[in-house]
Amino acid sequence: MYREMFHKGIEWRAHAHAIRQLYGTWLALRADNRAVPFREFDPATMGDIADDMIVFRPAGNGDMVYSHYGRSLVDRVGTDMTGQASSRIRESVGAFFRECNARVLESDQPLLTLHRSALSGQVHLWERLVLPCRDADGEPVIVIIAKPRQFRDDLLAAVLDASLDAIVAVHLVRDDAGIPVDGEFVSVNRRAAEWSGVTVEAMLHQSSVLTLCPWLVESGLWRRYVDVALTREPLQLVTRYPCADAERWLEIACVPFGDGFMVTQADITERKQAEDAMRQSQAEYARANAALKAEILRRQALEDELSHLATRDSLTGALNRRAITQGLRDAMARSARYAHPVSIVTMDLDHFKHINDRFGHAGGDAVLRRTVDLLTHGLREDVDMVGRLGGEEFVVVLPHIGAAEGVGVACRMRELLAGASVDHPDGDIRFTGSFGVAAWDGRETMDRLLSRADAALYRAKAAGRDRVALDEGLGDIHVLDHGSVVPLQPSADPPPFTPSTRQGTAPRAPRRARRQAPVLPPQA
Ligand code: GH3
Ligand code: MG
Ligand code: MG
Repeated sequence: MYREMFHKGIEWRAHAHAIRQLYGTWLALRADNRAVPFREFDPATMGDIADDMIVFRPAGNGDMVYSHYGRSLVDRVGTDMTGQASSRIRESVGAFFRECNARVLESDQPLLTLHRSALSGQVHLWERLVLPCRDADGEPVIVIIAKPRQFRDDLLAAVLDASLDAIVAVHLVRDDAGIPVDGEFVSVNRRAAEWSGVTVEAMLHQSSVLTLCPWLVESGLWRRYVDVALTREPLQLVTRYPCADAERWLEIACVPFGDGFMVTQADITERKQAEDAMRQSQAEYARANAALKAEILRRQALEDELSHLATRDSLTGALNRRAITQGLRDAMARSARYAHPVSIVTMDLDHFKHINDRFGHAGGDAVLRRTVDLLTHGLREDVDMVGRLGGEEFVVVLPHIGAAEGVGVACRMRELLAGASVDHPDGDIRFTGSFGVAAWDGRETMDRLLSRADAALYRAKAAGRDRVALDEGLGDIHVLDHGSVVPLQPSADPPPFTPSTRQGTAPRAPRRARRQAPVLPPQA
């Protein structure tokens, strides 16, 4: 059982006004250190206070007897103790009372006590002032005033005032027809008063909520609060608060309370601002990210363009000399590593000087561009490569392709060129090219491979131009008749190579019989 006794600080510890008043009276009577006469506290002369008073007198056997037990105490406790001996109270509170009485008698000094009631569910905490007095016969009399401490109210008030949120309880004011027309504050905490710019007392004395807070109507909040009171449905919302200096945000919770409502308002402006700042910085981050991505793409495009410029021939778009020789070197390296063939086709336009002479340099340029288009046609993207070695000389690199297939590719190119023409004001420009084919033998240098293809090419020129020649290695060059149809099955139908003759030597016998003829692809 909670219990406390105080001999000192009674004047500021006591909560009840009546207790403080009676204590003041007792002290005044005690001023000259004489016994305080009981007649000054006789309940018969005390008026309303008597209802909260208890008087104990000695029973003669060391016990004490209730000679007065106030009416409001009877109401609260449910029993009238008048005439009962204090020893009759068996609960722990009885021992406490007896101890209090004994101390007061012994010290002849007042005592303030606090205890939790064991008897009543209504009152949680009792506050009692126990005063030593003497009757006319000099007999000790104990006068007690007992007041229930408004613990729960105190606690509630403390909680409300400790809250950082503004809290108000409002009772609806209704017109004669019962329609809510205004409100009255039932309870407000300090924070709410601060926000309203007035004191708690001023708010509680204000009979009209709407006079003090007209913005409640303007904002539509009043309507919603009244709805909470009428429908008994709680409400939660976040809203802007009309403030002259700056924008403020409120988080509001409203619950029904009696014939009215209770509202708590938290100022969440700082949280809101932090959220806004975070959202803004996220948006800025996304924008910066997008700009960065765009910049990366722009630079990539620029790099692609630069590398294009660095590797491409500006007139025709074919790989330039440096790039195509590098491409060929790489292809040879891969060929060596993975043991697959690689062939090259070199090509030189026939009588190009005449084309320039007749159609002008621009006409010649148009033919060069068209030539690259035709050479590229039908090649494997990202595998085969077309390069311009200079002037009207080109080379095609064909990875994975052996001599026979290389010849087939060259034949198709030759046909395409021979069948094409370039529009020109002075008449269609027709042109042909001579082709040299060579397959890498897996050992020779790149220059050697190129010079073998060149040798075949010049043999094709020598044989009358507009034709294909294959260098088979060891100086054997076969010039393909340009009118020939290339067979698919060389065993069934021998390949249409015209056996070439070595420069300055007698024509040699055809070698088809002692060597497998090149396997050629279908005609384009
Ligand atoms: P052949 O059949 O023996 O190859 O005879 P050709 O006239 O084609 O050979 P030649 O090497 O004598 O002439 C090549 C010409 O190509 C000479 C040069 O003016 C011309 N030429 C070189 N580069 C360009 C170019 O970029 N544009 C144009 N229009 N002509 C060029
Ligand atoms: Mg030429
Ligand atoms: Mg030339």
